[in-house]
Amino acid sequence: MALPEESREIRNGAQRAVQIHRLFIAIFLAGNVLFLPGEWWLHRAHLLLFALRAWVFAPLALCSIEAAAEWMVKRYLSLRENALIVTGTLLALVAIGAYPDVDLMRVSLLLPIVTAILHVRVEKVWLAGAAAFAALLALASAQMSDGKSGAILQALGQSALWALVLLWATAACHIVLRFGLRIWNELRVQTRAQTELWVRQILSEKEAKTDALTGLYNRKSFDEYLDFALQISDGTNTPLHLAVIDIDNFKQINDQYGHLIGDEILRRTAQAIQQHLAAGDFLARYGGEEFAVVIPEVSHEQAVQNMEKIREYIANVHHVELDGHRATVSIGLSTHRPGETRDELFERADQCLYRAKQTGKNKIVAWESAVPG
Ligand code: GH3
Ligand code: MG
Ligand code: MG
Repeated sequence: MALPEESREIRNGAQRAVQIHRLFIAIFLAGNVLFLPGEWWLHRAHLLLFALRAWVFAPLALCSIEAAAEWMVKRYLSLRENALIVTGTLLALVAIGAYPDVDLMRVSLLLPIVTAILHVRVEKVWLAGAAAFAALLALASAQMSDGKSGAILQALGQSALWALVLLWATAACHIVLRFGLRIWNELRVQTRAQTELWVRQILSEKEAKTDALTGLYNRKSFDEYLDFALQISDGTNTPLHLAVIDIDNFKQINDQYGHLIGDEILRRTAQAIQQHLAAGDFLARYGGEEFAVVIPEVSHEQAVQNMEKIREYIANVHHVELDGHRATVSIGLSTHRPGETRDELFERADQCLYRAKQTGKNKIVAWESAVPG
């Protein structure tokens, strides 16, 4: 039972195991200093030998083993879990070897098991338990090697007790890990389902608001936005303009070059308009080959000027598909009068557009300049 390799937790596992090893070494060194007076009292006769072993060789061995392990973990990524378990076992063995008479030091054999649990894998916990048990056996056989029956019995008793401790610790880690993994997996499933739901909701919201061909807002969004913009304009007494843009002779383009090319011209024209709008302008595909732009805040002249630039740009776009013919647009623009409804404003812009079409196309007609109120 393992989480996917790329799981961040597993990647972090090795990092945390290294931190725990370093902590173990730091605690060992701190303990060395702390126990100094007691050890001096106990080993006065053999202090040099003891000091060399506990304060020189053991720290050196601990630091070298850890340094080698960290180098290996960086270099051979695939071996990192096993390497760290073996390192934990070796560190424990060195610590126990430094204080062979302190039985409690065998608690260090829990280090590989703690290391393994960080890898979030049940099988690694048992591997670490087995490594700790093997180390325990090695220690017992070293203890028994002096052959005295008293020492053998004592070593057997101690080892049996510690073997039980290791077994218990491994089994406990197994249970905790399985439980944790189950909760984790349930959480992941829930999170994924939640994310899918959000994505679907966002997509369907987007679908409901936009037009599939051009990616622009659709008429429904436009109507909602225009109502909102009119309220703001009336409430703050700031200017608001509406431009209706219609591609000229589009039916002819379709008939002559086909519907697909017609679609492409529509998309390109939508993009061209979008690119030339100011940040606060709102563009929508109002219907077929007709677009609508809500232009807030600027003056009537400025709005007309901006739309004229768009018209001119579009008139100069070269469409390879149209054999050199241009796909021009006509634009009708009306400026909102305080208290005027959405339909009234649109109606005036539409009348301007009609006038633009009637008077030659590829032009802009604004309410105040061309169509008397
Ligand atoms: P005018 O200059 O007066 O606007 O003439 P027009 O031909 O552009 O206008 P008309 O209303 O006669 O024709 C519009 C055409 O636009 C008819 C319709 O088939 C086409 N059209 C509408 N929506 C789409 C679309 O999504 N894709 C394509 N390819 N054509 C479309
Ligand atoms: Mg048209
Ligand atoms: Mg039209």
